Amino acid sequence: MSPLVSPALLDLQHRGQLGAGMTVFDPSAPHRLRTHKETGSVREVFRLTHQAKAQAVVREHPGIAAIGHVRYATSGRDQVEYAQPFERPHSRTWKWFSLGFNGNLANYPELRDHLTDERGYHMVHGVDTEILIHHVAYALRGEEKPQLVDVFAELTETLDGAYNIVFLNGDGDFVAARDPLGFRPLCYGRKGDLFAVASESVALHNMGIDDIVDVEPGQMVRVDYETREIHVERFTEARSHRHCFFEWVYFAHVSSDLDGSSVYDARWRLGEHLARDEHVSMGDDCVVVAVPDTAKPIGDAFAYSMNVRSLEGIVRNRYVGRTFIEGNDRAEKVRRKYTLLPSVMRDKRVFLVEDSLVRSTTLRDLIHRTRVEGKASEVHVRIGSPPVIAPCFYGIDMSTLNELFAPHYLGMDYTRSDLDRVCREMAERLGADSLRYLPVEDVGPSIGLPHESLCTACVTGSYPTPTGSRIYADEMGREPDRGDGRAFERTVSK
Ligand code: SF4
Repeated sequence: MSPLVSPALLDLQHRGQLGAGMTVFDPSAPHRLRTHKETGSVREVFRLTHQAKAQAVVREHPGIAAIGHVRYATSGRDQVEYAQPFERPHSRTWKWFSLGFNGNLANYPELRDHLTDERGYHMVHGVDTEILIHHVAYALRGEEKPQLVDVFAELTETLDGAYNIVFLNGDGDFVAARDPLGFRPLCYGRKGDLFAVASESVALHNMGIDDIVDVEPGQMVRVDYETREIHVERFTEARSHRHCFFEWVYFAHVSSDLDGSSVYDARWRLGEHLARDEHVSMGDDCVVVAVPDTAKPIGDAFAYSMNVRSLEGIVRNRYVGRTFIEGNDRAEKVRRKYTLLPSVMRDKRVFLVEDSLVRSTTLRDLIHRTRVEGKASEVHVRIGSPPVIAPCFYGIDMSTLNELFAPHYLGMDYTRSDLDRVCREMAERLGADSLRYLPVEDVGPSIGLPHESLCTACVTGSYPTPTGSRIYADEMGREPDRGDGRAFERTVSK
């Protein structure tokens, strides 16, 4: 099984580059579970540039089942202790387990205090994966092996946030669970004897699996080792779906389908919607340049709709880490990350198309360089998503209000005319000739899902969980709403 893990993780590398790892299950070994994990990319962790070393990793980790993980940090440091899966050995095989976690627990401080103060647990790492380990361990307490569906049902009683979990125990039982709001994607499929689950369909598709099914929010997929049966079970009710709209805009692989909607098609429609409201008249002196790579379909569709050319005026150096993900000296990374082509932009009115504008560091630098290095006559900026006015508490690394660009200009209840007005100020601050965002009401139609099935908290300030709502209200000095995302529905219909 372990030879299949690193190719699948490579397909998901865009979801995190700080660490990678796997746990394998081998029923014939004294160590039923064995974990290999380190900081770094999948290529580094699995020694993929050195054939003999890569084969040694596989040889030392035989098994008939495996879970794998790539790490994207919203908390914790860049050390091997934070790489996943987290394994918790135990002398009883059904209490010995390993898990990988995708998401973020918004009520981490309360969960931590409950574990330390009331249950006497000692926290070593201070990250939410450790919380999950302790909660699962607690749910496995007692002398009788519980039903795993009950273990995961118990988790939902206290967790607030996004939590997709893959779990493998020393009996070989496997679970992949999706939280009740379905913030992050999760899907499964089979081909012959192979059964596989992944965050995104691209990983399954590249295994040759054609029939790919989304795990519903509040569902878990369980494989029983003894019977080899696959069970799709509901471990909690899903009151409503709140898929993170940023998955389609920026985060997911362009070739994935998430919850029945193609990421590529969604990005194309984002570009079409942007073009629909364009007020600058365009001609032969205009060129659209997408800030690569995720914005490429948005830029192509925008250009196609405006009947101008979309060209590669900014080339990305693929061997520098993603600035949005990596942290640390972001400005220096931005400079190293892109090369500009004056032959494309010289004396042109350049329309830079970005998928999102979160902190502005990258964009401000590129606008400046488009003028100076690219020799553009004008630089206009078009953003394929609405202004990010609020932090994310559900697993995308923009967790404080201060680090965001738009809240310096816009509050939660802004109107279209407020936005038009502040866009002029924002453009000036960025050094652009004009700036325009995608309106909030175009998000759902672009993605192809109903507004009310999406989380848009970071662009509306309306959070779909009570903790998110409370933290944001505290930061803004206002009363929290119900934390069910309803304020969002009011926002898009006003
Ligand atoms: S707050 Fe924004 S980034 Fe976070 S889950 Fe919701 S839509 Fe996604």
